[in-house]
Amino acid sequence: MYEERFDKRKFDELRPIEAETGIIPNADGSARFRIGNTEAIAAVYGPTEVKPKHLEKLDRAVIMCKYDMMSFSVPDRAKPGVDRRDMEIGEVITNALNRAVMVEEFPKSMIGVYVYVTQADAGTRCASLTAASMACADAGLPMRDLIAAVAAGTVGDSVVLDLTKEEEDYEGGTTDVPIAFLPSKNEIVLLQLDGAVSREDMKKVIEVGKVGALKIYEIEKEALKRRFSNESKS
Ligand code: ADP
Repeated sequence: MYEERFDKRKFDELRPIEAETGIIPNADGSARFRIGNTEAIAAVYGPTEVKPKHLEKLDRAVIMCKYDMMSFSVPDRAKPGVDRRDMEIGEVITNALNRAVMVEEFPKSMIGVYVYVTQADAGTRCASLTAASMACADAGLPMRDLIAAVAAGTVGDSVVLDLTKEEEDYEGGTTDVPIAFLPSKNEIVLLQLDGAVSREDMKKVIEVGKVGALKIYEIEKEALKRRFSNESKS
């Protein structure tokens, strides 16, 4: 039985969140998203010319995304360089961004998205996706909506929101379900499952994830508003 969370949060409570945009002066758009001890920064470049040329699409922009964890992001120094996990996460972020960014507005061009995890305590793909979507908005790219992403799941018999690494490693069994929404479209753009879960619990997990994502969505919008109101003052 998992009756009380390790960090004393309620089962449907998010970790403390910080969000800001415009953190990287050399990029066209950028953002930082922190949830508890997980933090991701994202930089967006483009639209630019497609390189290599053979990847060009006549009817839309191509999103190229790189995800990486900094060596110092985890207790035992992460191995530098892109491994299979990084490639997989880069791909799921790309797929989700393709639903959010209006890529059809920029034929024959490329949008580069670079996401780095500076600190990892579970939920990095969701934090990365949220940061990447804020960075795309910060770059002024037309979007159908922002993406709000969070992991939910089960720890022991309990349905929980925003698992920590300690919870993911709980010996009584856990299930981790990263979920990403386009909230105003009520559309899921990423849904993965690590572990086993009953159909009934999966419904509860998605519901708790959705409520959590809506809170994240509000925080993202606030961060973007702050950025643009500061810009208009200066
Ligand atoms: P996510 O970060 O989206 O939950 P995973 O399920 O692949 O993705 O990873 C779970 C967690 O495991 C990460 O958030 C991080 O805390 C930890 N982790 C991942 N890779 C490493 C690594 N190379 N070394 C130590 N911890 C890692």
